Amino acid sequence: MLTRAILLVIGPGFLIAGCWFLTVGRSSKNVQAAPTSTSAPREFDVQELHAGVEAGLVPVDSAATAVDRRSLTVACDEQARQIGEQLDERDRIIVRPPFVIGGDLSEAELDRYYVQTILPTKRALELAYFDRAPDMPLTLLLYSNERAYRDAAWKLDRRNTTNYYGYYVRSEKRIVVNIGTGEGTLAHELTHALGHFDFPNMPEWFDEGLASLYEEADFSEDGLRLNGLSNWRLNHLLSAMQKRRLGTLESLISAREIREEKQAVEYAHARYFCLYLQERGLLPFFYRKFRDRATTDPSGLRTLCEILGEENLDPVDRNFRQWVIALYEQVRSK
Ligand SMILES: [Zn+2]
Repeated sequence: MLTRAILLVIGPGFLIAGCWFLTVGRSSKNVQAAPTSTSAPREFDVQELHAGVEAGLVPVDSAATAVDRRSLTVACDEQARQIGEQLDERDRIIVRPPFVIGGDLSEAELDRYYVQTILPTKRALELAYFDRAPDMPLTLLLYSNERAYRDAAWKLDRRNTTNYYGYYVRSEKRIVVNIGTGEGTLAHELTHALGHFDFPNMPEWFDEGLASLYEEADFSEDGLRLNGLSNWRLNHLLSAMQKRRLGTLESLISAREIREEKQAVEYAHARYFCLYLQERGLLPFFYRKFRDRATTDPSGLRTLCEILGEENLDPVDRNFRQWVIALYEQVRSK
């Protein structure tokens, strides 16, 4: 340990000295131009440096950021008051800007979802994709069972929710989920909600592909990355492949929106294509390039061809389908 510490301390000195000798050895003309940084450091007060460590860790909040944060908190408090008037009397609400979190759970349970699911998911998604954080309140309503969820969805949005466990109302910036079915739906809807702040014109194929990727995912050990995993949607994809009814990747990506009658297959198609990009380490990279060029390439097709180094998506499509079959064989053998 001691040897290692010493090496770390004196190592760079040797390196600099080594460079110096190389420079001198190769060309004596360069001697005059040798960097002055090789000289010993000036005298510093180590005690002062230590004292500065803690001070340096206090965030320097610019006046503008502080005002933004305060006004977001005020907006969240106001949103909590408004939504409170529409909810059941037994429902609870907590404010964790930019989130207003409510539902038929206790405040402690709502806070547990905030700390264990909502906040880490937001952090991981922002690290990988989103550069623009929400500047308006996002309301998340969590219900413990089918009945409470169904009643709330009907009361708030006149929605009949028999076919799904959660939804996001973009105009209201509000998510409603049946959390009793697990946290996958919450992660799905949260990805939509946060994504729309960062990439408002995200086309539907990618919006649904990315959101459904995270409905089944785990965190890396340091908690900073989310990795999408295979899930039940694989059956829809394989079934369409077996019946030879799966459209091309190009038709999925070029379509303006996902067709309602093909929703199950197209969600699965988009999700697994996102998983395929994730496995190749390209997903965050593609997202940022795609978002930044969306005015000239709104579907992302050209950006995709470019980063994959292909003229068109045909070879990628073939490779993708083979990857899906291999994935199926891998999942089946587990
Ligand atoms: Zn969705």
